[in-house]
Amino acid sequence: MKARRLGAVAAAATLALTLAACGSGQPSGGSGGTGGGGGGGLKIGIKFDQPGMGLKKGNEYSGFDVEVAKYVAKELGTSEDNITWVQAPSAQRETLIQTGQVDFVVATYSITDARKEKVSFAGPYFIAGQDLLVRADDATITGPDALDGKKLCSVTGSTSAQKVKKQYPGVQLQEFGTYSECLPALQTGGVDALTTDDTILAGYAAQEQYKGKFKVVGKPFSKENYGIGLKKGDTAQCTKITDAIKKMISDGSWQKALDANLGPAGYKPGAGNPPTPDACS
Ligand code: GLU
Repeated sequence: MKARRLGAVAAAATLALTLAACGSGQPSGGSGGTGGGGGGGLKIGIKFDQPGMGLKKGNEYSGFDVEVAKYVAKELGTSEDNITWVQAPSAQRETLIQTGQVDFVVATYSITDARKEKVSFAGPYFIAGQDLLVRADDATITGPDALDGKKLCSVTGSTSAQKVKKQYPGVQLQEFGTYSECLPALQTGGVDALTTDDTILAGYAAQEQYKGKFKVVGKPFSKENYGIGLKKGDTAQCTKITDAIKKMISDGSWQKALDANLGPAGYKPGAGNPPTPDACS
């Protein structure tokens, strides 16, 4: 009887393994295997330290990007409990996608030609602009032209750092791995400003622990088209994600998610929002 039971357990285990193999084989299976189809899980890259956009607090994930990711996942047939959230720091996004560590990335990820060499994008689903966060009592930094000789903090692998290096070479740029690492330095005077997208900066300025300490300069000096990054050339998946973005905008969920996540920080989306996503190629 014991042997028979063991046999049954072994059979069940084999079946489970077979099912698991089928389930995990599908998402990465090229054009036919569309990740998340048929209730399979999805690994989604987000930011973990950007309140209002992508934030991990304990086991809770919140932010506009998180809401976009959940909506898209649902349209692909994956419920919230079947999403594995993966931290996707700016410099690691392409690699995470290329190596299959994530199915897609929704992480304040600007669509650029350089990145398109390595990954594909669905979107844009939002348009942000690069701005500056300074100490609340600083009246000297009024825009990027007033940064000469100042110490500026940003993140490796971001369009924000790239733009400063190219267009404002007189600035002393310090690059960290994530934007939240810049905040203590800004507070204590180690740096004079933090530069990245206004969405991210608004979230930091509104954070309880920094309330009244920082201000966003409010003169955006770039156009950041946020896209959902996915495996290069997976047009089938890209088209499904694009359709999901369009639906999220047209059924009012996009506005609702924006109001709930960036409204409390007083953030007003700039011209061109909501954008019309491009066709996948
Ligand atoms: N949107 C910009 C980028 O993709 C800056 C924000 C970020 O690093 O996530 O590089």
